[in-house]
Amino acid sequence: MKIIMLGAPGAGKGTQAKQIASKYSIPHISTGDIFRANIKNGTELGKKAKEYMDQGLLVPDELTCDLVMDRIAQDDAKNGFVLDGFPRTIPQAEALDAALTKIGQSMDYAIDVDVPDENIINRMSGRRACLNCGATYHIVSIPPKKEGICDTCGNELVLREDDKPETVKKRLDVYHDQTQPLIDYYNGKGILKSVDGTQPMEKVFEDITAILGA
Ligand SMILES: [Zn+2]
Repeated sequence: MKIIMLGAPGAGKGTQAKQIASKYSIPHISTGDIFRANIKNGTELGKKAKEYMDQGLLVPDELTCDLVMDRIAQDDAKNGFVLDGFPRTIPQAEALDAALTKIGQSMDYAIDVDVPDENIINRMSGRRACLNCGATYHIVSIPPKKEGICDTCGNELVLREDDKPETVKKRLDVYHDQTQPLIDYYNGKGILKSVDGTQPMEKVFEDITAILGA
């Protein structure tokens, strides 16, 4: 079962991807993890990726795709995998499809965790973080015992720059420009499935398993 997760930043697709991976015993493949592993192990692809990252440049699509294909070729992915954070753009999706076609494979599902922008902005603006120990909270769903104070270390909690409405809006704009076209792309291939991501996490997961089958 080869699955791509789609959805805006903050839609909760990472959480769903992890649960899918665990239920169906397939690896959860995130590009961030692949980059880190290859750089840590000093692989040729990792060295190339690091050159770009050290200069503050985006890793080119082809190189990212090579890294993903290298990961997909590993033993634990032979029954499938769930991709999280890749592809992000149409050129990346085309590169992935071309690479899969070469080895006689294709994706089975693209699952879109659909959440309206307003909900995402509200969710993110409720996040609170402890800059001392890294603990995270949410004023509604995971509140600290004492308002504004970290349970673990007693430090003051803050709304991170990344979670501020202005920042979230900017990231959503980038998402709508670059990633939303993928929804049409995979719809055209007949593998797009949408789930209502505004539901509680467990319900979203139930909807996904109904699509994928037990
Ligand atoms: Zn803390």
